[in-house]
Amino acid sequence: MALTGIQILKMLPKKNCGECKIPTCLAFAMKVAAGQIEIGECPYVSEDVKQSIGEASAPPIRTIKLGTGDKVFTVGGETCMFRHEKRFENPTGIAVLVTTGMSAADVDGRISRFKSLRYERVGVLLKADLIAIKDEAGSEAAYTALVQKVLSGADDAAIILMSTNNANIAAAAKLCGSRKPLLYAADSSNAKELGLLAKELGCPLVVRGSNLDETVLLTEKFLADGLKDMVIDSGARTIRAAFEDNVVSRRSAITKKYKPLGFPTIAFPCEITSDPLMEAMISSVLIAKYAGIIVLSDLQGDMLFPLLLERLNIFTDPQRPMVVQEDVYNINGPNENSPVLVTCNFSLTYFIVSGEIEGSKVPSWLLIKDTEGLSVLTAWAAGKFGADMIAQFIKKSGIEEKVKHRELIIPGYLASIKGELEEELPAWTITIGPREAGHLPAFLKEWKPAA
Ligand code: SF4
Repeated sequence: MALTGIQILKMLPKKNCGECKIPTCLAFAMKVAAGQIEIGECPYVSEDVKQSIGEASAPPIRTIKLGTGDKVFTVGGETCMFRHEKRFENPTGIAVLVTTGMSAADVDGRISRFKSLRYERVGVLLKADLIAIKDEAGSEAAYTALVQKVLSGADDAAIILMSTNNANIAAAAKLCGSRKPLLYAADSSNAKELGLLAKELGCPLVVRGSNLDETVLLTEKFLADGLKDMVIDSGARTIRAAFEDNVVSRRSAITKKYKPLGFPTIAFPCEITSDPLMEAMISSVLIAKYAGIIVLSDLQGDMLFPLLLERLNIFTDPQRPMVVQEDVYNINGPNENSPVLVTCNFSLTYFIVSGEIEGSKVPSWLLIKDTEGLSVLTAWAAGKFGADMIAQFIKKSGIEEKVKHRELIIPGYLASIKGELEEELPAWTITIGPREAGHLPAFLKEWKPAA
């Protein structure tokens, strides 16, 4: 039977040191009980305790990590079927395929796009995560040369090593060193050797069956042999089969606690179609429905960006509003005479307002006040965006050193606090901005500092 947070807390060292990246042991215990983090993340827990808590509290989909240090890529760790039940934990990894059969220019192009196609949204860096390196020629020298090229060309890429030659995988995995790659793939023909290699190297292993039933037979066997870090490829190479297998795997693991399917999945849109648009569509379906990793044939901004946004939306925590950091944001290169606007840190507000300012081409200072992700009126009603708090923020923001004038533009919806804010900030003129962000460009183009 699953342990409660309090039962788990009793077994923790209670140092409240935060080394598990959770501020207190109690919060850590609650997360362990909810299956959101593994007990092993606390470095002070004894092996005995790990053993007794680990099994009872592990997430139904095992958490798999590639790489080490601050470049770890994490997949799995999921605890629910639907995002609104709790949240999805680790975003689907997006991988690009390079092979020994590609020309040097094709490989270089993919590595270069892996590094350059990066976007910042809502304060989050959106990018592809992995490079899948496939051995098509069977030559160890050619394969390790390609692996070396990827390792040095994309130093933050998590690595998937794909070869049917165990010796080539072993040689390439050794080259990867601490970047602990994902080994692809153990099937019925090489399960024993690759299982041993994965154990020896401490690398996670993809288990590939010709269908879901065969995949289960393989994972059962590996589990019996003590191999725990697995990713599953059910062998599906049609959109329908890949979708069904992902759903069946997730449902079996979450609702039935069926251990042989309690692993993240890997899917290959690049092998399902050769049409780039269809590949993007298939990828979007598999991101929504439970793929742990998807492997794409190439990275192009028009295909990657929508997938990254879809992933961002699906994997954000629905119980926590999306926020941007409290700060002074420079838009269009402002100077000491540029307008100063203030608004809340609800990310949607920030992106709409900053987008309109950017579009106006008027250099501006946008001050974002932490309102715990609440929108302007809700934050004001909740006492988090009142005149006293805005005034306090303006004083400590450093904006007074950045501009010569003293005019602050507040959201039109906060017109009622103008008088109060003038009392709190006597040196400032308070101007009421438009109620709708769409009217900001015209407003800013007309704006001149109050005399
Ligand atoms: S690392 Fe361990 S002791 Fe420290 S806060 Fe986390 S659970 Fe507590």
